[in-house]
Amino acid sequence: MTSSAHDVVVIGGGVTGAGVARDLARGGASVRPCGKDCYGGGTSGAASGMIHGGPRYLEFDWRTTRLSAGDAGKIVRIARHMVHRVVFLLPVMPGDKHNIERLETAMEVYDRFQPLKLSNPHLRLTPAEARQLEPALSDEMVGAMTMEEWGVDPHRLTFGNVQDAIENGARAINHSRVVDLIRDGANVLGVRYRGADGSLNEARAKVTVNATGPWSPSLGKMAGVPIDLRPAKGIPIVYDPRGGHSADRLDPADRPGLPLVVGALATVRRRDWVPFQSGIRAGVDSVMVGHLNVPALDATAPTSMSAAVMRARRQDLGYRGVVISDDLQMGALSPQYPPPVAAVRFLSNGGDMVVVSHDLAVADATDDAIHAAVLNGTYPRAQLDASVQKLLNLALKFMPQSRVRRSASSP
Ligand SMILES: Cc1cc2nc3c(=O)[nH]c(=O)nc-3n(C[C@H](O)[C@H](O)[C@H](O)COP(=O)(O)OP(=O)(O)OC[C@H]3O[C@@H](n4cnc5c(N)ncnc54)[C@H](O)[C@@H]3O)c2cc1C
Repeated sequence: MTSSAHDVVVIGGGVTGAGVARDLARGGASVRPCGKDCYGGGTSGAASGMIHGGPRYLEFDWRTTRLSAGDAGKIVRIARHMVHRVVFLLPVMPGDKHNIERLETAMEVYDRFQPLKLSNPHLRLTPAEARQLEPALSDEMVGAMTMEEWGVDPHRLTFGNVQDAIENGARAINHSRVVDLIRDGANVLGVRYRGADGSLNEARAKVTVNATGPWSPSLGKMAGVPIDLRPAKGIPIVYDPRGGHSADRLDPADRPGLPLVVGALATVRRRDWVPFQSGIRAGVDSVMVGHLNVPALDATAPTSMSAAVMRARRQDLGYRGVVISDDLQMGALSPQYPPPVAAVRFLSNGGDMVVVSHDLAVADATDDAIHAAVLNGTYPRAQLDASVQKLLNLALKFMPQSRVRRSASSP
């Protein structure tokens, strides 16, 4: 058994314990933080990763909103490298309890607190503006508000606090479970903890802090102090990734390096088509085809090289706009389909424009291959002309006419 003496023992290696230990260490106290597992391994590591600015308290407790926003501002100032802006999009539907005026009034009130946390005020968006950000939003939407908060990786934030505490003299030990308190009657004189090697040790202190979050009642019991806690469930709803496909791993076998989208055709249509359907309904001008392996759509070729996928896009989804390839020099595609070969295949399948974005020499070779394909009829001339026309129309839509080179021509 080892025994050590400190000003303060902090039990709990979550964000609260880590923050308390940091503040004390920076203030000159000798501190011993004890956590039973990895730092941030409890509730802190399971958080959604948002630094609450406190909008939910606006209706009944502005003081808490002010405190939350002020705390968020402190974290942003101390650890700007760890936080990122998160812009929430709050769509309003007809008949919503909080209609758009009511929601905007709430956002106007919240705007008063945003400077405390160095955030931006809300924006009110029209349905079209909101759908530019999220094409899958309903056509019936009345409008939307933005609301800015800060996001953070809670493990990094917790560990950053521990690291700062250590740099200021704290002797932090994780994987040390407090199993008992050293007491003299009602006075707590420190803790007995079991180390990672199973040994039982003591850390004595003038003050012992219980920062064990949901485990507080069991520590309270050791001190003879009942702590009533009613754990509540946080229920995050997790959606498929937005605005694209649901691939979550690389294809290990057939086409190494290509993301693999699994599932039967019906599943792929129901799950992966939705963002495209919504985007097309909202009138997007162009669609990019990624290099994916979707066996349900085509078991023999990646999506960007597949005539079946292109047909599905045009026929199933009724898309008439410009179809652009993802970069044909991407390492996952190019070993099997060198860019000149891939370009001809993509265009003759019905694509309109290819991207070759690494080497000029490869771009030139690709251009030559397209030229040759038109001359030998592999890529019909009429198809090329139709694509050029579509691209010109797009250019005219977005660029001042004088800047569009009408001389853009096919071979
Ligand atoms: C699903 C969910 C999502 C959330 N999302 C957010 C969010 O986005 N933003 C936000 O601000 N808040 C969020 N919260 C709330 C936030 O996570 C908590 O308020 C915060 O993590 C509490 O930190 P803590 O340090 O008090 O507790 P914990 O992180 O639980 O830390 C307690 C620590 O005590 C340790 N411990 C317990 N017993 C002992 C012992 N005997 N000896 C030694 N160590 C012990 C545990 O191992 C644990 O690491 C969320 C909460 C949940 C449940």
